[in-house]
Amino acid sequence: MKAEPDHQLRLLDLQEIDSRLAQLAYRMRNLPENAEVQRLDTRLAELRDRRTALTTALSDLDREQRKAESDVDQVRTRADRDSKRLDSGQVGSPKDLEHLQSEIASLQRRQSELEEIVLEVMERREGLESEEAELRKELESLETERDAAEERRATAVGDIEADRATEFTRRERVAAEIPDDLIAFYTKLRDQHEGVGAAALRYGRCEGCKLALSTAELAEIRQAPEDEVLRCDQCRRILVRTGDSGL
Ligand SMILES: [Zn+2]
Repeated sequence: MKAEPDHQLRLLDLQEIDSRLAQLAYRMRNLPENAEVQRLDTRLAELRDRRTALTTALSDLDREQRKAESDVDQVRTRADRDSKRLDSGQVGSPKDLEHLQSEIASLQRRQSELEEIVLEVMERREGLESEEAELRKELESLETERDAAEERRATAVGDIEADRATEFTRRERVAAEIPDDLIAFYTKLRDQHEGVGAAALRYGRCEGCKLALSTAELAEIRQAPEDEVLRCDQCRRILVRTGDSGL
């Protein structure tokens, strides 16, 4: 392939822009802010699950407490009724009297048992409520942290996008100065060789693969017409002669 030396040199500018664009794309994919937002989202999801579990547990306890309180009421009402009958003196037979007294005693025992349950439920409830309050605080501070991380991410993304726009504009201008067939050849090689399709020959060394050319290779290049598009024998990239090629 043939191309003006100036066009070949321009290819190095295009390569520099493409490398910069590749770097920007890499940075965009590997933003530490992304990982940070993800980490916070995971933690937030865990805490929200925990909060849902706590809300369910608290509403179960509410129901348990109401049930125990209504049981206490029922037992107390029955015990009151029995006590009134006892006090009214209407129960005559000693057998009925004894039966009533034993029922009252048993109802009182039952009432204290139920009151114990109510107390115990209330204690569990207090425990869960304080855990819920802690959780709410933790969630609030984590949400603030997440918002800040999201803002940092948006800023980082915005910066990269601005740089990318600048590079694209530069690329258009530079590409317009290079013949299409040379660009097509370069693009093919760039896609085959880790994003680098053209490299400078500097001080006898190919900057694509960093290898020094042999004396014979350099002698051959010295003989080549200047509009000949050369390739590096080692890495097969386009090798562009520069002012400091060491020829
Ligand atoms: Zn090379």
